[in-house]
Amino acid sequence: MKMQEYQGKELLAKYGVPVPKGQVADSPEQAFEAARALGGTVVVKAQVLSGGRGKAGGVKVAKSPEEARDFAATILGKELYFEQAKGNLRIDQVLVEEALAIEKEYYIGITTDRTTQRNVFIVSSQGGMDIEEVAHSNPDAIGRLPVDPFLGVRDFAIRRVAVQGGIPAAEIAQLAPFLRALYDAYVENDATLAEINPLVVTKDGTLIAGDAKIEIDDNALFRHPDFRAYAEVSEESHEYEKEARRRGISNYVYLGGNIGIIGNGAGLVMTTMDEVKRAGGEPADFLDIGGGAKAELVRNSMELVLSDPNVRGVLFNIFGGITRGDEVARGIIEGVASLDVRVPIVVRLAGTNAEEGLELLNTTDLIPAATMQEAAQKIVSLVGND
Ligand code: GDP
Ligand code: MN
Repeated sequence: MKMQEYQGKELLAKYGVPVPKGQVADSPEQAFEAARALGGTVVVKAQVLSGGRGKAGGVKVAKSPEEARDFAATILGKELYFEQAKGNLRIDQVLVEEALAIEKEYYIGITTDRTTQRNVFIVSSQGGMDIEEVAHSNPDAIGRLPVDPFLGVRDFAIRRVAVQGGIPAAEIAQLAPFLRALYDAYVENDATLAEINPLVVTKDGTLIAGDAKIEIDDNALFRHPDFRAYAEVSEESHEYEKEARRRGISNYVYLGGNIGIIGNGAGLVMTTMDEVKRAGGEPADFLDIGGGAKAELVRNSMELVLSDPNVRGVLFNIFGGITRGDEVARGIIEGVASLDVRVPIVVRLAGTNAEEGLELLNTTDLIPAATMQEAAQKIVSLVGND
């Protein structure tokens, strides 16, 4: 999950990183008000989940609240082309901040390096909008240093990477707390990327974060319920995927067909999709409900899948392992009973206590199937190919 710049800055500020005073606005009037409250020159920045906003025309220095309002009006609700995203992105919010008197722009970041299997610091004195170009044409201007997970961030490591990155010796002591804070924010929030670019050196010689880019590992989001609210508005995902997150369902992917697919275990669900395809059907989604399959989760998942009006039938594929088949069947029966379901539901149950489960299903409108192939064929023939 990528965070918007303002969310990243809020997070870094909690770790003691100085950030410019600012306010998010989603209308030109709000941008005007924010600029007036800040006073003086401000910078208005498109909040969008792609880098390269400067180059896309999404960052502007405004000398008056009127100018801030006018720039907000030219980009809010409009799309800008982003080279990094290779496409247009709509701007729904801008961040209005006090402008910085920029002397120099540094780059500091931390990310996971698969080769060394470490978190690695990246530091460069040549930060700003052309860092990718610098990485390409002058890789020696960029310091990289894997962090030992047991030793943590040591002073000598900070000095080494800062020197490698071309930071003047006199400024390293000032830079150190930024790297420490970035590291702590990165580790404690299960980030996969934390980056400040530019880290601005102002004309009076202080350091302040001009930008913040933070990405959180989706697999760790359950440990950070606070970030769920961010994910709702921030992911460029399909509306049903956003709805899935809101419902606390993390393993849902929208696929656009007309056969809803729900199963336990990612591999099983993917195989089910293949079988449905082979039988001539089009999966509407991938939804892995994991182990357990309690009634509440089944109901929640069904409600989500059926909220897509294109869904004309649902295929449940459950393998009873530790979870017993009869328990799962009860979960499905209870879950479905509480919903007004008007499409056929085929259930394939296998594994522990599958027979007991299938017997329970026989007393309902749910259509049992003994094998995955049979289940796929049944649902496809019931839904038809229109
Ligand atoms: P990005 O292009 O999406 O990474 O957006 P940035 O937040 O990094 O902004 C792009 C550029 O705007 C920076 O590299 C600065 O050179 C420039 N800029 C000009 N004035 C300001 C200012 O007052 N504050 C900030 N943050 N950036 C400014
Ligand atoms: Mn930037």
